[in-house]
Amino acid sequence: MQGKIIKGIAGFYYIHTPYMGVYECKAKGIFRSQKIKPLVGDNVDIDVIDESNKKGNIVKILERKNQLIRPMVSNVDQAIIIFAVSSPKPNLNLLDRFLIMMLKEGVNTIICFNKSDLVSEDEFDNLSNIYRSCGYQVIGTSTVLDEGIQAVQALLEDKTTVLAGPSGVGKSSLINQITPNANMETGAISDKIQRGKHTTRHSELHYINETSYIMDTPGFSSLYLDGIECNELKDYFSEFTEYEEGCRYKGCIHINEPDCRVKDALELGEISEVRYRNYVTIYQELKDQRKY
Ligand code: GDP
Ligand code: ZN
Repeated sequence: MQGKIIKGIAGFYYIHTPYMGVYECKAKGIFRSQKIKPLVGDNVDIDVIDESNKKGNIVKILERKNQLIRPMVSNVDQAIIIFAVSSPKPNLNLLDRFLIMMLKEGVNTIICFNKSDLVSEDEFDNLSNIYRSCGYQVIGTSTVLDEGIQAVQALLEDKTTVLAGPSGVGKSSLINQITPNANMETGAISDKIQRGKHTTRHSELHYINETSYIMDTPGFSSLYLDGIECNELKDYFSEFTEYEEGCRYKGCIHINEPDCRVKDALELGEISEVRYRNYVTIYQELKDQRKY
């Protein structure tokens, strides 16, 4: 039978199998045969050894599409990064860092601006357009007005999605509304996790229906980028690409060089000032890191 690892604790793996429930499995021999350790998110073949007690063995880990380190999970289809439009004021530097990190991992990110009820439509559009014009999908939600919830639900269908965001943006409220029918079964979204009472930091996937999984991640307030060369950072700002061909210097990093088309575009308002400022800040930081 095939399923997905939704949790691993003390040598036991919990495998969700569509329409057949969750099996508690061991992974004897897997490391020897495949030289890899099972990971939450892995699609696996299992042998059921006791159907009534829902116990089995993992016999094979299917090929991974990708593998994240933070959070520890494989086969991620997409990330939804949640910020509030206000209260707390969105930290776009943090948002840009998250986008860069996911681009590096090859995971598509959708931006969700929650608490849309707190700002005017114009304010909402100004913020959203910064990212829409860079090619990101942006959705607005309000858990208070029950707006955009269906759009988020539609995005999650048949996918494995990582949900991330700083604290206080309404991520828990949103998860509650996305999964109104979820029950207390192992792996399903439960009150326990929504209220933040669980203290473990194990990665855990929650199935919101038979084929859709979400991973909630702890609120974060900073994000350290590593493994990116400062000179490569510009490639993570896709809005620069259409201009940089015209820069005088090949390999222009668009900061101090003369005849830089990216800076021209910035002057003309074609490139967002906030994004550019974040680019320069992060560039400097990566450059300083390299010195040590
Ligand atoms: P989390 O820390 O991201 O999980 O955020 P919570 O779900 O705990 O919400 C933080 C605060 O924001 C709570 O007081 C919520 O009532 C409030 N909140 C959540 N969603 C919305 C929203 O759409 N609009 C407004 N105005 N407040 C919201
Ligand atoms: Zn340039």
